[in-house]
Amino acid sequence: MYLALYRKYRSKTFDEVISQEHITTTLKNQIKTGKLAHAYLFTGSRGTGKTTCAKLMARAVNCLSPVDGSPCGECEVCKAIADGCPDIIEMDAASNNGVDDVRALRDEVMYTPVLCRYKVYIIDEVHMMSGSAFNALLKTIEEPPAHVIFILATTEIQKVPATIVSRCQQFSFRRT
Ligand SMILES: [Zn+2]
Repeated sequence: MYLALYRKYRSKTFDEVISQEHITTTLKNQIKTGKLAHAYLFTGSRGTGKTTCAKLMARAVNCLSPVDGSPCGECEVCKAIADGCPDIIEMDAASNNGVDDVRALRDEVMYTPVLCRYKVYIIDEVHMMSGSAFNALLKTIEEPPAHVIFILATTEIQKVPATIVSRCQQFSFRRT
């Protein structure tokens, strides 16, 4: 069990993400220099690597000894994340799209991470959020606690309010 997880996890680095070098190079450099954004927005059609890169980024920002900007897969934090660490929160906006969900998130982000350096919120299909949910999210993204990083992903950037987009560092994933 342990070995299986370990091996599965260890095979994942930014260099294995196909044909998105314009993105992975930038993300790796951010890890190496420690110049991280508070909020990222990954856009592009399905299957272009958005979720893979979001998960890699969540690990890389917390890894104790990143290797060339990718998570090492071997440190205690990498192993903890592979086993399901509560500091990495993955939400699917298609099923958590209401204002109550985002308000709960706003309260939750204030608490410091349990184990990791950063709590990372990965919100997939973020365009599915309701208008009031977007407003609640916007307030959090405007003044995020220093220990929080948001990674929003969407296939439909045109449905994400400009106020949200303008506060995120945007990466456009392209079809291979
Ligand atoms: Zn590590």
